[in-house]
Amino acid sequence: MKPMGPIPPWFEVEDGMMLIGDCGAASLIGEAGDTPLFVYDMGIVRATVGRLRLAMPDGLHLHYAMKANPFPPLLAKMAGLVDGFDVASGGELARAMEAGVDPARISFAGPGKRDDELRAAIMAGATINLESEGEATRALAIGDATGMTPRLAVRVNPDFDLKGSGMKMGGGAKPFGIDADRAARLAREVIFAGADWRGWHIFAGSQALDPAAIIEAQAQTLALAARLSEEVGRTPPLVNLGGGFGVPYFPGDLPLDPRAVGLALEEALTLPPEILEESAFAIELGRYLVAEAGVYLTRVVDVKESHGERFAVVDGGLHHQLAASGNFGTVVRRNYPVAVANKFGAEPSDRPVTVVGCLCTPLDRLADKVMLPEVEPGDVIAIFLAGAYGATASPTAFLGHPPPHEMLVG
Ligand SMILES: *Cc1c(COP(=O)(O)O)cnc(C)c1O
Repeated sequence: MKPMGPIPPWFEVEDGMMLIGDCGAASLIGEAGDTPLFVYDMGIVRATVGRLRLAMPDGLHLHYAMKANPFPPLLAKMAGLVDGFDVASGGELARAMEAGVDPARISFAGPGKRDDELRAAIMAGATINLESEGEATRALAIGDATGMTPRLAVRVNPDFDLKGSGMKMGGGAKPFGIDADRAARLAREVIFAGADWRGWHIFAGSQALDPAAIIEAQAQTLALAARLSEEVGRTPPLVNLGGGFGVPYFPGDLPLDPRAVGLALEEALTLPPEILEESAFAIELGRYLVAEAGVYLTRVVDVKESHGERFAVVDGGLHHQLAASGNFGTVVRRNYPVAVANKFGAEPSDRPVTVVGCLCTPLDRLADKVMLPEVEPGDVIAIFLAGAYGATASPTAFLGHPPPHEMLVG
């Protein structure tokens, strides 16, 4: 038997059926037509954003990094909840605009932006977070050619990283941003070239659960932004402090308490370095806002035995929910929280079961030797923490199965 991560506390049960946003999992599947199905509960997203806003200092901008979940109905609701969207491709830029986000509230980060993507962002009036000197040259040339004034921020590769973070995005040689020791020079160049310099984007890492680590990274980020601004000799309109707020996926993970982070940030921003006194500040979060709101529902097709082990084979798999299989940015495979949706809260059977997907590869393992109620064909397995990096972060074309259904409730 192996442990699983904690089931998020927001899901209730009625007559043995798990509820998502007041609706039974089976009726949601009926409404969607079939399994496999991702359900996203907007009520949970709203509650998460509400708690975060309460915890954070007044006036701090909250941005949504939409690569975590770009499902259009969710984006449309999200547009009314947050202050800005961070996009990472021309495709995401288009989707954000279709969802009704004002391009002035969109920033575009990501290495390898093509000229047509830069042009689309400049024409729309979105801010480009510059990833290199070469990208700055191309953006300025497109500005000249189109007669538009590009809105440009400089993404800095900080000389520190977010401790304990699952995915390191800063510190040392990185494809993201411009090394801190060259960032001020680039900002001066874009200002001199007549661009609208928007400030700094400093993203030190992802998936941290320890408030102390985030507090430390934010303090270092503020100090770096102040030092670079002094070098430029200008107050940046916006300092994007990055994100890094994690969610509990695995056994032993505890939820991040944003209040400690908010208090420290409030203190730091009450008396900021002088050159940042007139600056606005933002954090940009992906998974923290949406991961817990999503459940992946997949039906048991077969239950079988091999060498004394029990396997439940489901109609979904890593082609929809790669992260739960342990193949998306984790070093050691650990179990996401899972449950039998139609036997929610029932006593576990006395034998562990391994939940595998329908793909013909040993990688397609969704839960390893977990204790669940007795599983039979037809049961629905719920995989939690599926609201971020699910459908669009998985190889949906692999093996030619149909794409998952997706649905927003609440
Ligand atoms: C992916 C990404 C995010 C979101 O990361 P999460 O871990 O989902 O919060 C934020 N900012 C940038 C620049 C990113 O690349």
